[in-house]
Amino acid sequence: MQERRTDLPSHCDVLVIGAGPAGSAAAIELARADLNVVLVDQHAFPRDKVCGDGLIADAHQALARLGVLETVMQQAHWAQSLRCTGPRGQQVDVPGTLAVLPRKRLDHIVCQAAVTAGARMLAPMRMSGLIEEGGRVQGACLQSGDGPTLEIRAPWVILATGAAPAAMAAAKVVERQGPSAVAMRTYIRNPAMTSQIRELEVIFHRALSPGYGWIFPCGDGLFNVGVGVFYVDRGLLGRRRAVQTRASDQSLRAMFEQLSAVSPRVHSLMQGGEVVAPLRGAPLRCTLEGAQLSRPGLLVAGEAAGSTYALTGEGIGKAMETGMLAAQAALLAHTQSDAQVQAHYESQINALRPRFKLYERAQVFGLYPWLADVVIWRARKSARLRQRISGLLNETSNPAHLFTLKGLVRLFTQ
Ligand SMILES: Cc1cc2nc3c(=O)[nH]c(=O)nc-3n(C[C@H](O)[C@H](O)[C@H](O)COP(=O)(O)OP(=O)(O)OC[C@H]3O[C@@H](n4cnc5c(N)ncnc54)[C@H](O)[C@@H]3O)c2cc1C
Repeated sequence: MQERRTDLPSHCDVLVIGAGPAGSAAAIELARADLNVVLVDQHAFPRDKVCGDGLIADAHQALARLGVLETVMQQAHWAQSLRCTGPRGQQVDVPGTLAVLPRKRLDHIVCQAAVTAGARMLAPMRMSGLIEEGGRVQGACLQSGDGPTLEIRAPWVILATGAAPAAMAAAKVVERQGPSAVAMRTYIRNPAMTSQIRELEVIFHRALSPGYGWIFPCGDGLFNVGVGVFYVDRGLLGRRRAVQTRASDQSLRAMFEQLSAVSPRVHSLMQGGEVVAPLRGAPLRCTLEGAQLSRPGLLVAGEAAGSTYALTGEGIGKAMETGMLAAQAALLAHTQSDAQVQAHYESQINALRPRFKLYERAQVFGLYPWLADVVIWRARKSARLRQRISGLLNETSNPAHLFTLKGLVRLFTQ
């Protein structure tokens, strides 16, 4: 995808920085509306992205809206439930619309759809700063390798650069440098266990607190296995506090070792399987916090805007959703003022906040794993409770009290 310098554009209608799910989704919407869109990424695609690769219902909906669900599902492993395993080994299967597809393939499909829709992809090309004139953003400065800086001007820029803070800092939108969580994953190939592990599984245990582990089957005997740890938790009474200041690479690796010790399934996968990718970690930015959502001429989408759910670390669906919302706001620019475009975008994002808060509350399971045992024990007995948790996972309902003290008391009364 590298182009000769003379062929490179100097202007476009909307410049999208970052071709992950958020940026590519934005580019698809804008290109389909006949806008001249340039999509930039620091890596040539297909590129790997450290992730659990799990697609929950919101991702299915976003992919359907973008017209790529069928292509994704042809390559993905489908599952109909999420298995939650508590510290004492109790398990409950929560019904859901689920799938797993390694990000290298998923992101390539979505990015290619943007190119097919008419977006111009420039990669590898890194945004090093913004062009600012007259009190607003007017484009960005881009660099390929150690070559000279290229300037592309655009009335609107969408920043979709993910969880790493460097690009956000260059765009002057970062409010908190540190991430909300960090997670680490590897891939294990173990074809003998394909038929035994069909559903996605999350594992809560004291040894993994404040965090959790997962096994997500990718199909064809490949499994994504990882651990994540949260930095902030609301605690049982909903009070916000830091539970971890820094999880080093070493402590995450130690946690991964623990996962194998506490989960017989992970143990079997490792014993009979082959680790086919190095254990790699990455930060997560959650709960729509840590960054300004917009500046005149600039909209921040995806994980740069904190669009990943706390607790589960699911963020692919909401990254695409916020990318599409940013595109819709940018489409208003020819009739509305900067302030109106920004207000429209921010109000759409704010409408998503209650669901993000629920996931943040649900982090109590990571902090107090015994609570996961209690909920799993109750959910095994109560179809109604399973349905409520499933409603949260599938976004078909918003069980606002599920993770409050009141909700926990209700656990024993229904
Ligand atoms: C270990 C781990 C497990 C996870 N598991 C899941 C899961 O199972 N399911 C799920 O839904 N979510 C999961 N997530 C979260 C998910 O990865 C993110 O929510 C999602 O990737 C956000 O998409 P995005 O498009 O905002 O950012 P990204 O996917 O990070 O894409 C950002 C893009 O911007 C580019 N970029 C960055 N800086 C620049 C720059 N200066 N110039 C040009 N390009 C730049 C990057 O190269 C990248 O391609 C997990 C995250 C981690 C770390």
